[in-house]
Amino acid sequence: MDYKDLANLIFPDAKPISYYEEKYPVRNLHEDAIVTRFAPSPTGFVHLGSLYQVVVARKVAKQTGGVFFLRVEDTDQKREVENGVTGIIQSLRDFGLTPDEGMIDEVNETGKYGPYKQSLRKDIYQAYAKHLLEQGKAYPCFCSAEDLDEMRKKQEAAKIRPGYYGVWAHCRDLTVDEAIQKIKNGEPYIVRLKSPGREDRKIRHHDIIKGNVEFPENDQDIVIIKADGLPTYHFAHAIDDHLMGTTHVIRGDEWLSSVALHLQLFQMLEFKAPKYAHISPIMKEEDGGKRKLSKRKDPEAAVSYYTEQGIPKEAVVEYLMNIANSNFESWRKANPNASLDEFELQLNKMSVSGALFDIVKILDISKTVISKFTAQEVYDEAYNWAKNYDSGLLKMLDNKEYALKILSIERGNEKPRKDISKWSDLKDAISYMYDDEFFKQNADFEYGKINDKEEIKKILSTYIEKYFDLADDKQTWFNKVKDLAEELGYAREVKMYKQEPEKWPGHVGDISTVLRVSLTGRQQTPDLYEIMQVLGKDSIEKRINQII
Ligand code: GLU
Repeated sequence: MDYKDLANLIFPDAKPISYYEEKYPVRNLHEDAIVTRFAPSPTGFVHLGSLYQVVVARKVAKQTGGVFFLRVEDTDQKREVENGVTGIIQSLRDFGLTPDEGMIDEVNETGKYGPYKQSLRKDIYQAYAKHLLEQGKAYPCFCSAEDLDEMRKKQEAAKIRPGYYGVWAHCRDLTVDEAIQKIKNGEPYIVRLKSPGREDRKIRHHDIIKGNVEFPENDQDIVIIKADGLPTYHFAHAIDDHLMGTTHVIRGDEWLSSVALHLQLFQMLEFKAPKYAHISPIMKEEDGGKRKLSKRKDPEAAVSYYTEQGIPKEAVVEYLMNIANSNFESWRKANPNASLDEFELQLNKMSVSGALFDIVKILDISKTVISKFTAQEVYDEAYNWAKNYDSGLLKMLDNKEYALKILSIERGNEKPRKDISKWSDLKDAISYMYDDEFFKQNADFEYGKINDKEEIKKILSTYIEKYFDLADDKQTWFNKVKDLAEELGYAREVKMYKQEPEKWPGHVGDISTVLRVSLTGRQQTPDLYEIMQVLGKDSIEKRINQII
């Protein structure tokens, strides 16, 4: 009996690996094209750190004419969540990051290198495991959970490095005949790698982000096929990324220390190893220290947070680009209106230590992003958001024509309004444009400098009687406010007032504040002339008369 007999006994139906090597030919791409992937477990949850990896991976694939695909890693069936794949795909879609290939919902996929769900690739992994068994590079292990537990306790007591290696790897030294006998006796088993590595030898490796790293060789006889016939992550990674033509593995740096094992697997399987780029996590400041942004502690760690708050996808993606490459910010300054596609992201310029999460920065970017939207875009995005999250806003947007007029105020010009950073700000930002919302407020407004009630009454009634005409153009309108100021004894120019402040009770700006507050309830608003044009005659008169 030899290794081949053992391999045949374990995987009698497995195809020769040549079948798969032919089925999945080398991709026909330019030599610099990057093929990379996002490979989540189907937990339905997407962490901001994962979205960051997706933004980076997809970007480098796109800019090199490569491929970005989605592979579902569901070999740990304990971690599975119902509709977990759909949840992940929906999140990617929400951020405009749909992959080129891979799963498109719970069961369907696109692309020629599938299945893109590991649980459907059992036959493939078993073929490669069989191939290793045939060469004596893998072996069946009959140790039970209790055996392993006992071994671990012994190792702990003796303060020895834990694991299944060297003298601890009991089943490694079984003869083929012994192993075959045990299988025939019906003893349960798993398949382990027969690691040729030595812990006292180092391997050197160049990671695109982390630079040169050095690790001890892997000497653990890791499990490659579990009792349920499915592979472990490590084994599946090597097979999948080989057959799917991955050129670059871009993933979280919690996997950096597995590189020694992964390179060993690629070598033993006689595959060309991909390049690795290990991304540092997004960090959060806490009590003067730093820690990873945590799914458990931080609501902002879930990408659904941004969707729920109504922070546009463009802003989140732009923020992630910002932390990916420090030269992004100056590129953006020089190219304020350019599409992100024009920026060239460089993996080797990503930071080795983690970027600090900064919600203020995200909101700031978001303000700029929204300020560049057309009124129609704001309307569509806000409407879609409101449908799910804000019935009050949805009601306001119901009259589309009116809403578009409001949203056009100070938009589409050179210095567009920048007061909205998320759709959840919008209701408050425009509520005073609606009579029923306006009259709902307590009319005890904060007026600023001029706050004597009789004086305010006088200003408003004089304005309405003598100066109010919606047909005026902006210049005429403003001249009339100046005339009003002058008539009531105020400086008609701010400059004049500043030169001799004792001469006047206030200036034209104070008068327009009275108008602004009376019409909106607020001291800060976008352009008052535009607001009045949108409000219309009836609403303006109603508001002013109420105050008078
Ligand atoms: N399934 C692994 C994870 O959830 C993927 C790691 C990789 O990208 O290789 O992190």
